[in-house]
Amino acid sequence: MKANCWMGKRKVEVQEVPDPKILNSHDAIIRITSTAICGSDLHLYNGFMPTMKKGDVLGHEFMGEVMEVGRSVKKLKVGDRVVVPFTIACGNCWQCRHDNWSLCENSNPNAALAEKMMGHAASGAFGYSHLTGGFAGGQAQFARVPFADVGPLKVPSDLSDDQVLFLSDVFPTGYMAAENAEIEEGDTVAVWGCGPVGQFTLKSCRWFGAEKLIAIDDVPERLEMAKRESGAETINFDNENVYDRLMELTNGIGPDRCIDAVGCEALAGGSFDGVIDAVKTATMLGTDRVHVLRQAIWACRKGGTISVPGVYIGAADMLPIGALMNKGLTLKTGQTHMHRYMGPLLERIRNGEIDPSFVVTHRLKLADAPGAYKTFRDKKDGCIKVVLNP
Ligand SMILES: [Zn+2]
Ligand SMILES: [Zn+2]
Repeated sequence: MKANCWMGKRKVEVQEVPDPKILNSHDAIIRITSTAICGSDLHLYNGFMPTMKKGDVLGHEFMGEVMEVGRSVKKLKVGDRVVVPFTIACGNCWQCRHDNWSLCENSNPNAALAEKMMGHAASGAFGYSHLTGGFAGGQAQFARVPFADVGPLKVPSDLSDDQVLFLSDVFPTGYMAAENAEIEEGDTVAVWGCGPVGQFTLKSCRWFGAEKLIAIDDVPERLEMAKRESGAETINFDNENVYDRLMELTNGIGPDRCIDAVGCEALAGGSFDGVIDAVKTATMLGTDRVHVLRQAIWACRKGGTISVPGVYIGAADMLPIGALMNKGLTLKTGQTHMHRYMGPLLERIRNGEIDPSFVVTHRLKLADAPGAYKTFRDKKDGCIKVVLNP
């Protein structure tokens, strides 16, 4: 089959690779009909994520048709149309039983590696380095899906691929970010990063009762989308001081809830700390650029909540821990507990409360993946979300 492979820093290639096979009786093989490039794929592309190997198949947002099932698979059958969560979970361990699916104890075969870095391992994930299990991803014609009775969600035929594909990651991730922000009726919520996760976060914030939304980015098309789709006020950090503007918009109180939908590759935005981060990560003296998180802690109203859906990898420098503590802030984060949200969010799509296809700006062939990664990374050509069709 053809698959988009990681070939080194800033290099991906569509290559001929062996077809996936059933390795375990709980596996299914999916023929992929649609797959997307995610902002977190850029952390791999840009070389931020350790333990990538040349030839790794990328992609963790995909859907398609069940082609083959292992003999222990009971809920799926050949021909079913499914969307697949990016995290892999067994459904039986303590964490899965406590609804903490992205912390599954049984789905990451390289747990020992992750334990060395983080104390404990997160779950397995598709196409996201050997730290999360080294599973082949879904930017391919086919994929092997472990624990096939636990993860894949059957989707009805009257919804298009574009309407359900984002249940694989960015829609539930935006939703959980809003839930983690502990929003109360009438709150003001600031969201840093208006990529697809930020867009779904903004929409979800409304469902939790947010009154005023403030979207922060430096890409005009993304800010326009946040305004158009979610009625957000916008701050372009290239032109405005984010802290000052947030204080202006909140009478000096600060946003009640702050959401960091950017993660480890935050831009400096003219800040001193951001420039130091950039130098450190570029020279391998640091792993993460945490400018947005610092700014969120600084700006958040006292007693407020900071929710972090953005991906971080290693350690943070100069995090204002004193402000976090003395302002009585709550910090909530985590990889998305996908399996908790996919079903209920599919219901919202079916009810017409949301049509997730609004984020799609580019639709290309799988063979175009290398160019698509560049366009997406550089946010050129109004690019917000790319869907690839194998
Ligand atoms: Zn993703
Ligand atoms: Zn589990």
